[in-house]
Amino acid sequence: VWGRVKNVCAQNGLLILSVLAVVIGCMMGFHLRGKQLSDQEVKYFQFPGELLMRMLKMLILPLVVSSNMFPANLVQATFQQYRTRSIPIMKTPPPTVTAPLMESTTRRVYIYGVQDDNGTDVQNFSLDLTPPPDVQMRTLPGTSDGMNVLGIVIFSATMGIMLGRMGPNGSALVNFCQSLNEAVLKIVAIVIWYFPFGIVFLVAGKILEMDDPSAMGKKLGFYAITVVMGLILHGLFILPAMYFFITKKSPIVYIRGILQALLISLATSSSSATLPITFKCLLENNHIDRRIIRFVLPVGATINMDGTALYEAVAAIFIAQVNNYELDFGQIITISITATAASIGAAGIPQAGLVTMVIVLTSVGLPTDDITLIIAVDWALDRFRTMVNVMGDALATGIMAHICRKDFVKEGEQVPLICETK
Ligand code: ASP
Repeated sequence: VWGRVKNVCAQNGLLILSVLAVVIGCMMGFHLRGKQLSDQEVKYFQFPGELLMRMLKMLILPLVVSSNMFPANLVQATFQQYRTRSIPIMKTPPPTVTAPLMESTTRRVYIYGVQDDNGTDVQNFSLDLTPPPDVQMRTLPGTSDGMNVLGIVIFSATMGIMLGRMGPNGSALVNFCQSLNEAVLKIVAIVIWYFPFGIVFLVAGKILEMDDPSAMGKKLGFYAITVVMGLILHGLFILPAMYFFITKKSPIVYIRGILQALLISLATSSSSATLPITFKCLLENNHIDRRIIRFVLPVGATINMDGTALYEAVAAIFIAQVNNYELDFGQIITISITATAASIGAAGIPQAGLVTMVIVLTSVGLPTDDITLIIAVDWALDRFRTMVNVMGDALATGIMAHICRKDFVKEGEQVPLICETK
């Protein structure tokens, strides 16, 4: 038995350390709450966690750009082969939310939750698909670190297609991106060892900051339990069942491969910051074809947020109940549709879902100010919904790899260029 335990520990050392880190972080946070630390002391305490967040964010841009731009001919071939399959994924997000039920909802609502009077929603959405040089997505103040991952994917994939068309003339840039991609994955392998340490302070620091849980109130408690139960149902049963029915493979084995990414999403509350780790887990543990990961995963991390959609729908119903507002069947359907659309518009950053809640509330004429009612518990719910978001992206990548398995040429095999120039 001891030999077996040693084996498991050797194989999953980092994972075990990360789980321990979450537990230690919680214990440390609750212990230190009684010590009345000053704001400055809390800031010092949060520093190692902030460092982890920064290291992860630093990797997103080079990872997404280099993985979509190289090898350009393969990207081009992929687009040719899978035009009919990949494009529907990109078509999924309706650019606007226009399901007005009440008069107040006729106001235009910008897809990222900002009510914007300069330009239509379609214009704003299209503008974000073509990222400005600072690669920032336009978000509400306070969430300005939302990177426009979708725009970057589209830009890099377009560059990849063009480099493929240029043939040998584009090879310098292709080689550059190939080296960059390998280097980024090597950095991820190093950063991963900092996780357990960073997670302790990230979790403890957040607990130090949170409002007094006893002041939360019974209603808010029930609301939080409802969201968590919904997320558990969706994450542990519905998503794995979908994966199983489509691929006929074990979702347990697949989810075991992405546990590290799930833990980091729990600690960071950010699908975007988790992206480099999900990438590594899918590549090395689940052996998914990197050509599929590099396209499906960043797009998924930006627009596929099941956890956020679920939470926004429950939150809107909760706010309606607090206001003694009877929702009819049509309004509940509207909430479901707008919550899905709003989650597509939410950036993969902490508490972005809270911002896009404006869309859902407006759609059925509920007071948007009441978002403040749920702020007290949002930091915690955000962690769980981000976990479900990341799980949804990873399982969708697995499903996509399964669907494409027959048509894809094996990695390393020569793929004919579609339009080679001499
Ligand atoms: N934090 C979530 C994510 O990064 C978004 C949200 O606030 O719901 O996926």
